[in-house]
Amino acid sequence: MQQRSRNACSTRPLRGAFSLIISEEGGVVTQEANMDQSTAVAPSMKPAAESTSTLLVLGAGPKAVSIAAKRHMLAKLGYPVPHLHIIDRQGVASHWSGHAGFTDGNQLLGTRPEKDIGFPYLSACWGDKALNKAVAKEMLHLSWHGYLIDQLRYSNWIDRGRTRPTHSEWSKYIQWAAGKVELDLCVAEVMRIGTTADQKNWQLTCQPSAGGTPFTLTGDGLVMTGPGTPITIPGQPEEHPCIMDGASFWLRIEEFVKLRLQVKKPLNIGVIGAGETAAAIVVALVDALRSSAFIEVISPYGVIYSRDEGFEENRLFSDPDGRLASLYGAHQHAANWLQLSERDRREFLKRTDRGVFSLNAMKEINNAENVRSVLGTVRRIHANETTVRVDSEYDGKMKHDEYDYVVVARGFDALWFRKLLDEDTYTRMAAVTQSFDARAIEHAIAVDLSLEDFTPKLHLPMLAGLAQGPGFPNLSCLGLLSDRILASY
Ligand SMILES: Cc1cc2nc3c(=O)[nH]c(=O)nc-3n(C[C@H](O)[C@H](O)[C@H](O)COP(=O)(O)OP(=O)(O)OC[C@H]3O[C@@H](n4cnc5c(N)ncnc54)[C@H](O)[C@@H]3O)c2cc1C
Repeated sequence: MQQRSRNACSTRPLRGAFSLIISEEGGVVTQEANMDQSTAVAPSMKPAAESTSTLLVLGAGPKAVSIAAKRHMLAKLGYPVPHLHIIDRQGVASHWSGHAGFTDGNQLLGTRPEKDIGFPYLSACWGDKALNKAVAKEMLHLSWHGYLIDQLRYSNWIDRGRTRPTHSEWSKYIQWAAGKVELDLCVAEVMRIGTTADQKNWQLTCQPSAGGTPFTLTGDGLVMTGPGTPITIPGQPEEHPCIMDGASFWLRIEEFVKLRLQVKKPLNIGVIGAGETAAAIVVALVDALRSSAFIEVISPYGVIYSRDEGFEENRLFSDPDGRLASLYGAHQHAANWLQLSERDRREFLKRTDRGVFSLNAMKEINNAENVRSVLGTVRRIHANETTVRVDSEYDGKMKHDEYDYVVVARGFDALWFRKLLDEDTYTRMAAVTQSFDARAIEHAIAVDLSLEDFTPKLHLPMLAGLAQGPGFPNLSCLGLLSDRILASY
């Protein structure tokens, strides 16, 4: 199923894990077992049935680890599972560590950590109630609670009031879980995405991060993870000392901490965006610069809205189609995302996910007298040597503002991978997506989170919010995400 050049990508065995090592002949060998009792195979359980399919996952973040964990536990219970290869340029959960941009690692996780890789610990697709329960029980070994117990920190966490972990702590949990399962990780950059000549299988061309010869991975399905690349604004240079984005900002934090003591008058900083990426950046700037900066949040509404969070909202993230509630609950009706009109789904996303600041961020910003919101949709930025001019529009009128620094935090392009597609795959995908129209793709995401009418299967959880449920693009229902994807193999 797969071809690799010799030694091009050595699977990095994770500590305390079974690791699948790809032999030089291309065969798969299970090597080294150092698993603890909790994850050892129970003698009563059947060995996993053979499966010939292979699933590829781009990115080794929480989504990939949730799929690997569910696959591992299903195999342990005797279910046929696909081979799984995960490719990441930096290793497991690097986006959360604070060493690879996207965060400094010190920010608090927005979602509760109990929404971990197994949440909601309720499946509907692995047979009867008892079988689904057995899967959930196995997954509990890899839960946030399981991690804390393993680290001897469980009671401490409870006694402190079940605190939110930092992003860096969250990355350690994901790495811990990855270490407990059979994770075939290639530390490599995916450079090209194509298919075999018969268009039945994916072919990924990967460049090992440590250098060496590129190699090819072949699979029946491909899952794209990660937020994508930062969305830019016309006029934004690729690199400029005064302009940052939602990924690169975090690598400059130390510089701002130093500037606080150096500047003679407060800096003017513009943050473009009204969602959680902008929120985290504003909080970090306030923390780093305190009264040495005036921070303006430039958004089309001119008001910072906070996220709606209550049971009614949360349950649509955990159980979007109400299937779990119908199977296991007693109410006559279950809330169902699929019954909402598109207008109501988009309204829900606006209130709970997109373009809103979390309550935690709002609490901090409410206390910051140097933060203001400013009305306008930014049309263009002009970078001078030491300042940045921002042209924005509201109600047909243009205005121009000048800042010492600008952070473009408008979110991320979930379709970033199209630039990696080879010509044939690009043309075929463009034909079924109205030339990569984001709205057309959002409508065309199937139950298993794959793009309808396209083979081989391409799972796009980042774009599954509208069609399948608001939790799939984020961390809100990783257990359900892994069920939906693995059930089709
Ligand atoms: C600052 C910040 C805070 C957030 N907080 C929350 C939160 O609290 N709750 C929540 O639900 N969501 C949150 N999000 C949203 C979050 O980004 C998504 O939930 C996230 O994408 C989920 O993780 P993932 O597994 O999809 O991807 P990630 O953890 O982002 O992993 C993607 C991986 O892909 C790898 N990669 C990318 N391109 C390539 C390539 N070409 N080749 C090889 N590897 C590649 C990267 O190295 C990375 O490790 C936050 C986002 C940001 C930016």
